[in-house]
Formats: sequence, C-alpha cells, structure tokens
Amino acid sequence: MANDLQSSPNDPPAAVGEKILALRAEVEIAASRLRLAKAPPVLVAVTKKVPEAAIREALETGQRVFGENRVQEAAEKWPALRDAYPDIELHLIGPLQTNKVKQAIGLFDVIETLDRPKLAKALARERNDGARLPRLFVQVNTGEEAQKAGVLPAETGAFLALCRNELGLVPEGLMCVPPVEEEAALHFALLHEIARANALEGLSMGMSGDYETALNFGASHVRLGTAIFGPRGEA
Ligand SMILES: *Cc1c(COP(=O)(O)O)cnc(C)c1O
Repeated sequence: MANDLQSSPNDPPAAVGEKILALRAEVEIAASRLRLAKAPPVLVAVTKKVPEAAIREALETGQRVFGENRVQEAAEKWPALRDAYPDIELHLIGPLQTNKVKQAIGLFDVIETLDRPKLAKALARERNDGARLPRLFVQVNTGEEAQKAGVLPAETGAFLALCRNELGLVPEGLMCVPPVEEEAALHFALLHEIARANALEGLSMGMSGDYETALNFGASHVRLGTAIFGPRGEA
C-alpha cells in the first residue's frame, strides 16, 4: 500500500489517484457489510479549492461524482471538464441563493442543499418555465445551529410535504453537516430516522473526518475532500 511518504510534494496528482481508489474500495467494503440489498454508497469527491490537475487525476481513475460548495467556483471550473468528461455528475453541497437558481440548474446534476421554502418555490418556478431540474436532497440542520443552513428536524416533514404536494418537487434524500464539536453518530442516526419516517432512501452524510461512522448509519453518499485531495489551499 503506498503511503504519503512515497509521493513527492511536486506530484500531488499521483497521490490523488491512489487515495481515491483506496477510498472507493473502503467505502464499498464497509457498505457491503451493512447494505446488502442496496446500491453501494456513492463517493462524492469534493473539489472546492482543488487545482484542476488533481481533479483530472481523479477523473482518470474513473471518478465521476464530484461536489462543489459555491456556484461561482463551479461555473469557472466545471463546464470545460464536463466537455472532456460528459458523464460526470456534479453535486452542489453549499448554500444556494435564489438569484443563482437558474445558473445552478445549468451547472449541477444534484442540488443537495434544498433548505427553505423560498428556494423550493424558485426551483418549482423554473421547472414550470420548462427547465429540467437537478435531482434534489433536502439539507437538515440536525444540530439546530443558528449559523448553519438546513430545515430543522421537527419541520422536515412539513417541508417535504410542501415540496411534494404543493410544488411537485421530488427530493430523493436528506443531507446534513453535523456540528463540529458534537458526536457525529447522533446526527447521522437522527438523519437516518427522519429519512425513514419520510420514506426517503438517500442519505448524504459523512465527510473526511467521520465517513466511516456515516457508512455505519447507512449513508448513501459520503462527501470527501481532504481525505482525497489533502488540505485545501496547499494541495
Ligand atoms: C467541504 C465540504 C465537504 C468535504 O469536507 P472534507 O472534510 O474535506 O472531506 C463535505 N461536505 C460539505 C458540505 C462541504 O462543504
């Protein structure tokens, strides 16, 4: 097994290739223990602030699912990469302002951060005007943190009812980012429970520091940045 000592700092792409293959294997093995009847979890490679050479290395290993947290950064990086790799699947994992909805619809295949009625209504309006919407996940603020986006746990059922019954939106899952200072497992268990109560299959949860725990709680998607690409800004 290659380790970090063998990769020169001038050659980050090779390390990216090795890491992504190892992580993909790890995710599949962990999940095959727990989710025998379901599809293996999807590794979303988070490429915010990641240089293009490293993204290309990930693409060359066959990685096709990526996440970005800013619409503007995605607009600068991904159209050219999508021309080269038309089968990529790009996820928005950061907040979406309603004035960027049109642009986001053109860029992303999945919006994981549907987090408020105003955004749901803006998406429905675009769909009514003929747009083909990305797939949708509802972000839940499981820690009820004031500074964090997401629907409150107690309001998720009503929000899903608004989406489904009034707006004709069909979210396929839930997403969360647990509070940094708390036990992630509690939040993953809560998200799992809310999804089950609302008959949703998708569970986007788990980042580089806690993805093993998330897989144990049935994550369908784990979102990994630093575990693949190293610390941001110095990759
Ligand atoms: C940055 C980011 C990630 C990836 O974080 P790492 O700790 O680098 O794996 C996952 N999810 C969201 C919402 C993010 O903003």
